[in-house]
Amino acid sequence: AKQHSGNQVTFYEQGLQSEVEQRLWLEHDLLQAIGTPQLVLHIQPQFGCDGRVTGGELLARWTHPARGAVSPALFIPVAEETGLIGLLGSWSLQFACDALLSLQKLGETYPLSLNISPKQLMEPQFTEYIRDTLESKGVPGNRLIFEITEGVLIRDIQAVAQRMQALSLLGIRFSIDDFGTGYSNLAYLKRLPLYELKIDKSLVQDVPNDSDSIAIVQLILAMADQLNLRVVAEGVETEAQSRFLFEHACHALQGYLLARPMPFDAWLDVVRTRQRP
Ligand code: C2E
Ligand code: CA
Ligand code: CA
Ligand code: CA
Repeated sequence: AKQHSGNQVTFYEQGLQSEVEQRLWLEHDLLQAIGTPQLVLHIQPQFGCDGRVTGGELLARWTHPARGAVSPALFIPVAEETGLIGLLGSWSLQFACDALLSLQKLGETYPLSLNISPKQLMEPQFTEYIRDTLESKGVPGNRLIFEITEGVLIRDIQAVAQRMQALSLLGIRFSIDDFGTGYSNLAYLKRLPLYELKIDKSLVQDVPNDSDSIAIVQLILAMADQLNLRVVAEGVETEAQSRFLFEHACHALQGYLLARPMPFDAWLDVVRTRQRP
C-alpha cells in the first residue's frame, strides 16, 4: 500500500495505528501493574501560610518495565473507560489507609486527599465499600478528602448529593478539583456538602500578571469565604504566585515551588521536620 499512498496518508495511518496500539498496551499492562511495585502513589504536600504542612494529595505513578514513566494523564482516562478504575481506586484507598496508619503512629493527624473518578463515586456499592474498608483498617473517615472534578457534579446533582451526604456521615470531606475551569452555574455549591475548592493550576499560573485571572481568583476566594469553604491553590510555581495567593487569604498552596509529588517516606520526612524540602 505504501507505493500507492502519499506520505500524508501513510503518516495518518501510522498515527492511527499507534493510537490503537497504545490503547491496547495501556489497558493490558495496567491490569498487570496494579498491585505490583510498578504502580505507586506519591504524595504532594500542601502548605499553609505559616509554612506548615496541612495535608497532601495522592498521585498515581506508573513505571512501566519497558516504557518507563507513564503519565497518569495517559493511563487514568484508559482506566476510567475500561472499568479498571474500580480496581485502581480500591488499591489507592488501601494505600491511603496504610499511609494514614503510619502517620497516626507518629502522632500526626493530617488528612490525605484522594482523586476520585466520577465513575467510582457513583458505583452502587461505593459507600459500603468505603465504610467497610475504613472499619477494617481502623482509619477514621475524617482523615480522607475526596477530590472530585466539577463535571460529574452537575450531571446528576440529586444522586451526587445523596452519595456525598452518605459519605459525609462517615466523616469523608469533599473538594472540588480543577475549580474555575469548567461549569459556570455555581448553584450546585449550595446543594452539596463541600469542604474545599481547589483552584486549577491554569488560573494559578496566570496570577499575578493576567488581570482576568486575578479577578477570577479573587472572586473564588471571596465566594469561598462567604460559603465557608477552604481554598487550596494547585500548580504554584513562583514566589509571586505564592505571595499573591496568601495575601488574598488562600488557605493552602500546592505546587512545584513548595514541593513536588514524592514517595511516602520522603513525605514523612517533610512532615517530621515541618519544612519545605
Ligand atoms: P490533578 O488532580 O489536577 O493533579 C494535579 C496535577 O498537577 C498532578 O499531575 C501534579 O503532579 C501536577 N502538579 C503539581 N504541582 C504542579 C506544578 O507546580 N506545576 C505543574 N505544571 N503541575 C503540577 P499528575 O500527577 O500528572 O496527574 C494528572 C491527573 O491525573 C491528576 O490531575 C488527576 O486528575 C489524575 N490522577 C493522578 N493520580 C490519580 C489517581 O490515583 N486516581 C485518579 N482517579 N486520578 C488520578
Ligand atoms: Ca486532584
Ligand atoms: Ca487539579
Ligand atoms: Ca486536573
